[in-house]
Amino acid sequence: MGSLNCAPLLWREPGAFTSPRRPTPSPSLEGNRKNPPIYPSTHPFPMPLSPTERDRYRRQMQLPGFGQESQERLKATTALVTGVGGLGGTAALYLAAAGVGRLILVRGGDLLREDMNRQILMTDNWVGQPRVFKAQQTLAAFNPDIQIDAVCDYVTAENVDGLVQQADIALDCAFDFKERDLLNAACVRWGKSMVEAAMNAMEAYLITVIPGETPCLSCLFPEKPEWDRWGFGVLGAVSGTLACLAALEAIKVITGLGDPLLGQLLTMDLARAEFAKRRAYHDPDCPVCGGVKAENRGDRALPLALARR
Ligand SMILES: [Zn+2]
Repeated sequence: MGSLNCAPLLWREPGAFTSPRRPTPSPSLEGNRKNPPIYPSTHPFPMPLSPTERDRYRRQMQLPGFGQESQERLKATTALVTGVGGLGGTAALYLAAAGVGRLILVRGGDLLREDMNRQILMTDNWVGQPRVFKAQQTLAAFNPDIQIDAVCDYVTAENVDGLVQQADIALDCAFDFKERDLLNAACVRWGKSMVEAAMNAMEAYLITVIPGETPCLSCLFPEKPEWDRWGFGVLGAVSGTLACLAALEAIKVITGLGDPLLGQLLTMDLARAEFAKRRAYHDPDCPVCGGVKAENRGDRALPLALARR
């Protein structure tokens, strides 16, 4: 099972973008068509920095187009990271390094020794214990200025709404399509941005989903393949590369820095160092995001990213 940690989601076939839609929406997703509630802000936005934080983030605040306001936005942000393994754990590390104020880490199961080729938040003496708590411990030592919550569970129909409601943005690094679909639907339902990161062997895929503005995961992949249950080989440098790009994508959406992958799927063949962007199909009749209005978004940071389009 440990070999499945790094998001075995594929967008191999170009046909995936035009394959038939599911015939009827799931009853559990019907609520997506109604106006989602507006997320109530729990933090002032942006949040002032302490002297320590100004020191810690000084070098990134020197970036053109970043500055103190972007840092204050990161501090006021809660990011939900699912599937905290080689991919999600490394993404969480770079969100912590950047100063995202609160991380919610979600991952069930215990650490296996075979996880150790890529799960860089772990230590060898932790094998056999719940990995999400070690991830929390490592990140807290790395950056004591941020809040890190750990949920030792997988994404389920029962917990997904409660998790997404607490977050401003989600990073989908989950185990399989079951978890990914649940998170995608909840992000659409609550109007939250979601960075979708997936890999298979030496290939990796990245896109940002903004409900009401961009295709969602279900638009991209309306049919669920069987192969997402298969294990595959993974190199830590590959999951780490994708993880850094996923963290960067979240930082861009939160701060308005650069151009996030809105409606564009980045595909990476890391064996050949080939990168390409493809326009993603936005299905107006998508059973998950069809009919969702952009004005009902609950994402406070989003207008920055959209304003640059
Ligand atoms: Zn959709």
